[in-house]
Amino acid sequence: MKDRITIKERVKITGRGIGILRKYCPGLAGGKAVSALIAAIQPLLSVWLSAKIINELAGARRTTYLLTYVAAVVLCNFLLLLMKSMVDRVTEEKEAQMWNFFGKVFADKSMTMDYADLEDVRVLQKKQEASENLFMFGNGLGQLVWGINSLVNATASIVLSLSLTVTLFFTDTGNGWMDSPLWIVGIGGCVIVGGIANANATRKENSVFETWCKETVWFNRAFMFFGHELAKSPERAKDVRIYSQHKAATRAFAEMRKRDEAVGGYLRVMATYPALAAVVVGIGTVVCWVFVVLKASLGAFGVGSIVQYIGALGKLSTGVQDMMFVVADNEVYCRHLKGLYEYLDIPNRKEEGTRTLAPDVFGDGNDGHEADYEIEFCNVSFRYPGAEEYSLRNLSLKFKIGERLAIVGKNGSGKTTFIKLLCRLYDPTEGEIRLNGVDIREYAYEEYLRIFSVVFQDFKLFSFSLGQNVATDMEYDREKAEKCLIKAGFTERLKAMPNGLDTAMYKDFESEGVEISGGEAQKVALARALYKDAPIVVLDEPTAALDPIAEAEVYTKFNELIGEKTAIYISHRLSSCKFCDEIAVFDEGTVVQRGAHEELLREEDGLYHKLWTAQAQYYEAG
Ligand code: ADP
Repeated sequence: MKDRITIKERVKITGRGIGILRKYCPGLAGGKAVSALIAAIQPLLSVWLSAKIINELAGARRTTYLLTYVAAVVLCNFLLLLMKSMVDRVTEEKEAQMWNFFGKVFADKSMTMDYADLEDVRVLQKKQEASENLFMFGNGLGQLVWGINSLVNATASIVLSLSLTVTLFFTDTGNGWMDSPLWIVGIGGCVIVGGIANANATRKENSVFETWCKETVWFNRAFMFFGHELAKSPERAKDVRIYSQHKAATRAFAEMRKRDEAVGGYLRVMATYPALAAVVVGIGTVVCWVFVVLKASLGAFGVGSIVQYIGALGKLSTGVQDMMFVVADNEVYCRHLKGLYEYLDIPNRKEEGTRTLAPDVFGDGNDGHEADYEIEFCNVSFRYPGAEEYSLRNLSLKFKIGERLAIVGKNGSGKTTFIKLLCRLYDPTEGEIRLNGVDIREYAYEEYLRIFSVVFQDFKLFSFSLGQNVATDMEYDREKAEKCLIKAGFTERLKAMPNGLDTAMYKDFESEGVEISGGEAQKVALARALYKDAPIVVLDEPTAALDPIAEAEVYTKFNELIGEKTAIYISHRLSSCKFCDEIAVFDEGTVVQRGAHEELLREEDGLYHKLWTAQAQYYEAG
């Protein structure tokens, strides 16, 4: 049995959920509520007016009264149904869209959360659980949308049907036994017992359903991988074909089917609960009917009122059942919403800094203030979230404005990790990184990021136009974008682009979009870094995908490319680092040597000498 959530907590959780709905799907909750209110009013109004017509027909038969009632039935039904279908049209459209907006709830969180958390397995698990539950079954926000509908409908049905039932107990038959107030308790009891039976069935059904969801989430995850990603993703298609991975996928699929069939047993169990509840509700309904008919036969009211009371009692009974369902269901979706909030409330540590940078870092051309800054890693150690081994160990390194710093070292020596920490994608586990003597965590994050242009090894371009990719904005300075592309060596390819800067990249949105090679993409990424015009340029293996000629071009033009900026340059190819003022040699997460190329080469026992000799031999042999 899971921990119960208190009513107070449920109100708070539901209120926050409604707040999220209002922010991401404005009008949806309101539309559902209005539609549910009309759906509750319309049948009861019809029952009430029909009772009036039958009583009039069975009694005085006054034409004006009859005509008024008939006109009222027709007009009220027409107006209510018209309003409902207008509201439903809009609401249905919003409901169909709500899944996209729910996706935005997750996207907004992912975009703003600390980068370190994006990779944290515990965070990923929270996200996966919340999103799979929501998108597969509507658990949480989806149920809340439907719950609002049921809550308003049930409340209105109870209030309205009670108002149509009250007189049933206060019209006397003259028979003491039939007029006993105990009938209020008896009939009320029948309605409530029916409601409780249904609520219990719902609770049991939900508990089985939750177990089923958990089992099926696995199926869905596996299905998404085998059925969608593996089969359709072009990135994987090459490997699927070469290694006949479809055979492995087919076998895995058969396994999944078996597992799904086993899980199907839950559904059969679930179906028995509502059936049992229906028996209890049925008995209660028969008692109500017998009571109404007996009272009418004893002359307490006319035949029309039988219609009214039976109709209203029926509605009261379903209203109470729905209300109990809403209350029971509320606990279930509150539990799912709680899971969602746990994910949404993961704190954003990088937002804690408030310091601003300018003008000491950027300089100010207007008053002649020179840019001046110094970045220092002070005894920094770092371990990735969940990792056991340190990727950086007691690393101390300082670099100044205008410096060209190359970082070299074997694979896995911590070069990229160093860059990630420098850009505050992660914070040090121990030690600190200082900008002008101040811990970088104290600076406002957005502000701090302004000083870096980075081309990561695994950079990504987006399915926007070429110019928009360079400028990372929809509106941009076309001349500047073109200049940056030319500087990055993209001149010839730019000329061949069918719509120049406006050419769509990739085919996700435009069938005319162009696919570019890895090397070309790397040049665009370089142009993007140049366009940002930040004081520090970081290039992580910037020529890995370039051919030797394009690579040589980047090196010869490096000074022109970077200008007065500070540059940090990571490369496997030591020959490409010769032009840097300083070279830091990384090994096992720390700096083992530092100096200019010639200087480092002279240290014959040093790692640099070893790496250089190994590569030189390779090139000479080639
Ligand atoms: P380099 O750039 O020098 O090749 P990295 O900085 O990428 O090296 O990696 C340094 C060490 O950190 C390696 O042992 C690598 O396996 C580990 N590492 C890198 N990224 C992660 C990560 N996201 N989670 C856990 N360990 C990582």
